[in-house]
Amino acid sequence: MPKSLQLYWGNLSFRSSMLEEYFEAKKRLYPQSVKGRFRKLKWYLNTIFLAIYLFTPFLRFDRSGVAPDQAVLIDLPNSRAYFFFIEIWPQEVYFLMGILLLAAVILFFVTSLFGRIWCGYACFQTVWTDIFIDIEKIFQGDRNQRIILDRKNNFEKFYKKFLTHLSWILVSLITGFGFVCYFNDAYQLTKSISNFEIGLTQIGWICGIAFMTYIMAGFAREHVCTFMCPYARFQSAMFDKNTLIISYDQKRGEPRQKAPKDGDFSNRGHCIDCHQCVVVCPVGIDIRDGLQMQCIACGLCIDACDNVMKKFDLPKGLIRYDTMANLEKPSPKNKFKLLRPRTFFYTAIILIACTVMLKSLVFKTAIEVNMIANRNPIFVKMSDGSIRNGYNLRIVNKTLKDKYFSLKPDKFDRKIIQIQNDDINNLEVKAQKVASFMIYLKLSPDFLAKINEDRILIDLDLIDKESDEIQKISAVFIKE
Ligand code: SF4
Ligand code: SF4
Repeated sequence: MPKSLQLYWGNLSFRSSMLEEYFEAKKRLYPQSVKGRFRKLKWYLNTIFLAIYLFTPFLRFDRSGVAPDQAVLIDLPNSRAYFFFIEIWPQEVYFLMGILLLAAVILFFVTSLFGRIWCGYACFQTVWTDIFIDIEKIFQGDRNQRIILDRKNNFEKFYKKFLTHLSWILVSLITGFGFVCYFNDAYQLTKSISNFEIGLTQIGWICGIAFMTYIMAGFAREHVCTFMCPYARFQSAMFDKNTLIISYDQKRGEPRQKAPKDGDFSNRGHCIDCHQCVVVCPVGIDIRDGLQMQCIACGLCIDACDNVMKKFDLPKGLIRYDTMANLEKPSPKNKFKLLRPRTFFYTAIILIACTVMLKSLVFKTAIEVNMIANRNPIFVKMSDGSIRNGYNLRIVNKTLKDKYFSLKPDKFDRKIIQIQNDDINNLEVKAQKVASFMIYLKLSPDFLAKINEDRILIDLDLIDKESDEIQKISAVFIKE
């Protein structure tokens, strides 16, 4: 081996031994399936969330043929986002910020009450990992069969793994398709795919999202929750002694011992150290060691332990959702309470934010106008001594109807200001479009002689010819 290669190889082995010293090697988890009320609840919720994700783009909403009739659509080419009756234009992007902020406050609120239930029941990572683990179970069997299969090196392993990965890829592609439907007409996209006429950009996005799904739910799994998700890091800041967390009742469970043959649990703890709560855990922790950052509050260990307790005729709930306060000092006072100061505080913030958002959505202007002065030339002196300024009038029509406007100086200035534009009494703006008009304002020399200032503020009325609604516009007129 050349010396440089030897040096490189030595360097690499030194680094890998260093990594092994400081970092634990990735352990492969084989979560065991479990039956119980939380498992059932998770399947119901998974089905609902998946149905919402996949079918929402196929819902229609009537927009009179002037805007896409897809109820939920992010129309990137036309820079619009549609959500049923809500329509967001590029200049209203602050609504999206508001919605995201509101979602963050609601998440903090829910976490302060119920711990990480978002992670355990609703997060995309959890939902898709659940589906992938279940596919694994269908083709390769439950935990023990999967462990044994991984030790083998034969045709059985090959075809079972092949079918598993094929199904994962299929689910990933459906996920990618679902995602792209939010940015395209869902029916049109489905038709294009069935006719093999899909565009390269769409193929790229579907494959990109599918690849991410395949990696995240198939391989990264619990590592996303433990190392990549920032929420796991700061969620403990939202916990207090009254937050509902998954907890192992030490007082009742310890000292743990193997199951008694005679079924006598006196003078010992109720935990039989069967590790059922550990093997079902999708993040591979032992909840008996106390609350840990990795725990996503999925409740599967509760189901596993309840099943064990049932077998021994012991009360359920050795592992349960409970508060720290109640675990330390069991009393009705320390049990979970929905109504507490923190709840009122968060509810007040959410209500205020919802009211502000709703008000601004309901009362948002359907017609937006702005008028920008030409800067080259700033003004023009006419042969009769009058001065003329040019402006660009931009009208945004967010309604679903074509609109016609007339532009006039406001009632105080009507006699002195002349507006020049051929269409001034019939400015047409098509539905859902933006139109620009060149407008000239002219002031007579007699009037200008009476004004000392170089700049004059002129008020104009933009009148909707159908409804007679008036929008005020102010323009700065430059004399010299
Ligand atoms: S499942 Fe229950 S009994 Fe079994 S080890 Fe866990 S806590 Fe103990
Ligand atoms: S400890 Fe229990 S609740 Fe937490 S992630 Fe594991 S199984 Fe889910």
